[in-house]
Amino acid sequence: MKDFVSEAIVLGIQPSKEHDRIVSLFTKKHGRIQARVAGGARLLSKFALHLDPINLVFIRVAHKNKFTITDALTSDRFVSTREGQSFGNALKVLGLVRVLAPEGEADMRLWHDLLDAFSSGNVNPNHFLNLFGYDSELGACDSCNEKEVSYFSIKTHELLCVTCSTKLPENALLLL
Ligand SMILES: [Zn+2]
Repeated sequence: MKDFVSEAIVLGIQPSKEHDRIVSLFTKKHGRIQARVAGGARLLSKFALHLDPINLVFIRVAHKNKFTITDALTSDRFVSTREGQSFGNALKVLGLVRVLAPEGEADMRLWHDLLDAFSSGNVNPNHFLNLFGYDSELGACDSCNEKEVSYFSIKTHELLCVTCSTKLPENALLLL
């Protein structure tokens, strides 16, 4: 893969080394990628505004051994999705994409469904779970077979009921 420009949805951003951040993106061109945000407080503050989870951004990415963001510009903040229940649901969907979308594989169906959901503010995590091949409404707890499924295990990719979910640490679970 060479350097590229693409539209992307920001899935999350976390601190890395002293002045670096790692941003997780779902790009239109190459699916999910992790990219380093070049160090330096000045650059970070320039990009921080744009690399906000949920944002649709235009990014320029350099690729040597790893991806590095060399430019980012917000195209849509999806304001209607940042209110009330839509916001919580959008964060769940970003979590699902981060865990379940394969790295480096474009997925136009997922891309368009994300844009549709975030543009309309009508965000349904179950729809995205279904896209990835899971059915939390018809499915049962993978551990005990209980009908009411409430969590998704990030590590084992199992659907879990409330009782079984308590055996795992909070950061290993996505609330559905
Ligand atoms: Zn269970």
